[in-house]
Amino acid sequence: VNGDTKRESMADGSKKKKIPNINFTNLFINGDFVHSISGKTFETIDPSTEEVIAKIAQGNKEDVDLAVKAARQAFDHGSWPRMPGYMRGKIMNKFADLIDENLEELAALETLDAGKVFSFETAVDIPSISKELRYFAGAADKIHGETLKLSSEFQGYTLLEPIGVVGLIIPWNFPSAMFILKCGPALAAGCTMVVKPAEQAPLPALYLAHLAKLAGIPDGVLNVVTGLGHIAGAAVASHMDIDSVSFTGSTEVGRLIMQASATSNLKTVSLELGGKSPLLIFVDADIDQAADLALFGSLANKGEICVCSSRVFVQEGIYDELVKKLVEKAKTWVVGDPFDPSTRQGPQVDKKQYERVLSYIDHGKREGATLLIGGKPWGDKGYYIEPTIFENVADDSLIATDEIFGPVMALMKFKTVEEVIKRANATSYGLAAGIVTNDLNIANRVSRSIRAGIIWINCYHNFDSGCPIGRYKMSGFGKDHGMEALQKYQKTKAVVTPIYNSPWL
Ligand code: NAD
Repeated sequence: VNGDTKRESMADGSKKKKIPNINFTNLFINGDFVHSISGKTFETIDPSTEEVIAKIAQGNKEDVDLAVKAARQAFDHGSWPRMPGYMRGKIMNKFADLIDENLEELAALETLDAGKVFSFETAVDIPSISKELRYFAGAADKIHGETLKLSSEFQGYTLLEPIGVVGLIIPWNFPSAMFILKCGPALAAGCTMVVKPAEQAPLPALYLAHLAKLAGIPDGVLNVVTGLGHIAGAAVASHMDIDSVSFTGSTEVGRLIMQASATSNLKTVSLELGGKSPLLIFVDADIDQAADLALFGSLANKGEICVCSSRVFVQEGIYDELVKKLVEKAKTWVVGDPFDPSTRQGPQVDKKQYERVLSYIDHGKREGATLLIGGKPWGDKGYYIEPTIFENVADDSLIATDEIFGPVMALMKFKTVEEVIKRANATSYGLAAGIVTNDLNIANRVSRSIRAGIIWINCYHNFDSGCPIGRYKMSGFGKDHGMEALQKYQKTKAVVTPIYNSPWL
């Protein structure tokens, strides 16, 4: 599709850097890339250089109206919801093939726009999204209801129908993965959709829209309106002709999405929100493995992961040894140009996030936590922050309670299993948790006691298309991955009929 991806030498001349073509900067409505009605644009910035990459069409309410109109027409009169599931699956598999064929181009857009590490994007992130799409492509012809014997006189059956036009509002931390996480099950269910990507990293979504069209997804089925959250996002959330909104983002905006539903057409809402996930390291753990998991859990994707293990609880007996190991390993955690193959951590997504993370680091210092490593900006340009580890963090301090969404780990010491379960659960969030132990009884007991949607034992950030993830408490509701994710995009209709001339009567 974009065979002419340019290559540039990096400063030392030894490594290659990919600069993707920026071909898509307009709204994608009814199968065409179009300017916003107002003609307004916003800038998307490369967070590693602070330079403008491109001007992107700024959609407002009128543009959202047009996109919803196209999606409504495609739903009410188009082929997509009506075609046999296997045909939807076939087109979705083609879409997945195109993602695989253009993996480097898409990965480069993610790296350029969101500061994500290119080597991770090509090896893990982008391959996982085509896999996710194929999972739901395979699900498209396995959607079925139940037959019901209701009484001696009546029988019934249920139909799982697509819910209709859906609004998909996504964040910037995994621009392509979030896009597919929502579009995959929505497409399989037979819905039509309007996607609102985050303004910080809109380029991957527009490129994916282009691939969706090439794959043969009919016009109007998948629309993308780039724009600002409080304008384009709010127009999606409050639209009278959108049947359901699936939102991933902050808890604050999640509340607004629910309010918008309540004061518009009572559309169904699913919310995937913030987190403050604990990693619990027990005394019998392998120190080396535990230190690796703690670093990966807290610092991967520069801490911009909703499930990242920003609270690390370590049992007393191994605390000192573990801290020593952690600091040693953190010193080898390479920060730098996200296109460089040796880099593990790129820049925060934008200036606002960068300043927010630094202000939490200041809070940590002022609140009396001990800074073990990091705590400062890195380099002389770009929104880079050093990997940062605090110890002696009080459970009620801001760095232990708030979602920071940056490369900041809060270390806490604990004595007993009962104590750490209580402290790990003392949060308003419930996205994920990790347990590092070789003691089966502890692993079983703790995994059942932590109120979170996914528990990783001796691993972290392990996602799979087939593994459903839910949310507890203020981390939201609704599931991603797995067949359960389809439920967000379906309605159950019951059909009841009397039984005449039954041989049993
Ligand atoms: P955000 O809430 O600021 O924005 C998310 C999306 O909502 C963006 O597209 C934005 O434009 C839009 N938006 C903003 N204001 C809006 C409004 N008033 N009405 C409608 N839409 C609006 O979040 P963010 O900063 O982009 O992402 C970071 C947050 O996302 C973190 O809290 C993180 O934990 C969360 N997140 C959660 C999950 C999960 O699965 N639970 C996954 C990834 C990220």
